[in-house]
Amino acid sequence: IRWSEGRGWHDARLQPYAPLQMDPANMTLHYAQSIFEGLKAYRQPDGGVATFRPEENARRFQRSARRLAMPELPEETFVEAIDLLIRQDEAWVPNEPEQSLYIRPFMFATEVGLGVRPANEYLFMVIASPAGAYFPGGVKPVSVWLSEEYVRAAPGGTGEAKCAGNYAASLVAQAEAAQHGCDQVVWLDAVERRWIEEMGGMNLYFVEGAGDDARILTPELTGTLLPGITRLSLLQIAEDLGYATGETRLTKDDWREGNADGSISEVFACGTAAVITPVGSVKSTSASWTVGDGGPGPVTTRLRETLLAVQSGSAPDPHGWLHRVI
Ligand code: PMP
Repeated sequence: IRWSEGRGWHDARLQPYAPLQMDPANMTLHYAQSIFEGLKAYRQPDGGVATFRPEENARRFQRSARRLAMPELPEETFVEAIDLLIRQDEAWVPNEPEQSLYIRPFMFATEVGLGVRPANEYLFMVIASPAGAYFPGGVKPVSVWLSEEYVRAAPGGTGEAKCAGNYAASLVAQAEAAQHGCDQVVWLDAVERRWIEEMGGMNLYFVEGAGDDARILTPELTGTLLPGITRLSLLQIAEDLGYATGETRLTKDDWREGNADGSISEVFACGTAAVITPVGSVKSTSASWTVGDGGPGPVTTRLRETLLAVQSGSAPDPHGWLHRVI
């Protein structure tokens, strides 16, 4: 679907996957007006297909567009474009448990020019690709590197938006994490460099206490972390399961000390790609520690299974999160 100044949205098409032609002065290549979303379609027990909360992705896409001075795509158009693609390519939605069709809606400037200003032309597209089970051999905890050198987002910046540049800027920290033998980077805030924000492409959760008295806490949305849809859904699921929940602020020292005295029993990350990933160990320049016993904890496992069951249609969907496509 194209957008141009004066005309608005027009020229919607469903067409075979193919390369795009691009002018060397395409404004996106120079000034990075590029935003995207990620969501999944799941095969349902009756053979149909559903996406998970696509209207939340549509709204986040609109907020990203506003932040990058791009036009907003109506929520219904965003959802309908995805539905049309899935119906066209239904055979690509896997039938296996934990497998899904990963959907990538995105928008970028198509105007040609070298002046720094919002472009007058954009293209919104949706592509998709089957996604296997994230943990084919069973859930494996990740090791994380607390980056003290690089930050992902600063106040007033684009941290809340899902824009391409945020990911470009994170690659060097991800490489630093790998150099230290860690799977993922965990970001701290830009101002004091001590508040825990989020992981590479996932939000974080901390489990305080244990059993039915556990409190499930996640860093509050301060404007510098991505408001994850999995994060939002888990706050509700945890409440539905009877846990106390909260959005809070937690420093890297709180994490280390909470781990040492046992008050933090489990930590996990959550996002569309892996749903829920336990965090097994933490490394930074000044300290390293194992989280709990290093394995997936019982609260993490329970939340993961509950969310997966809603997505796959094998449990009730009390909040109407599944959007039936087929
Ligand atoms: N944080 C970042 C930086 C991400 O890229 C993602 C993935 N979109 C998330 C968090 C998790 O968001 P969601 O649950 O909507 O996938």
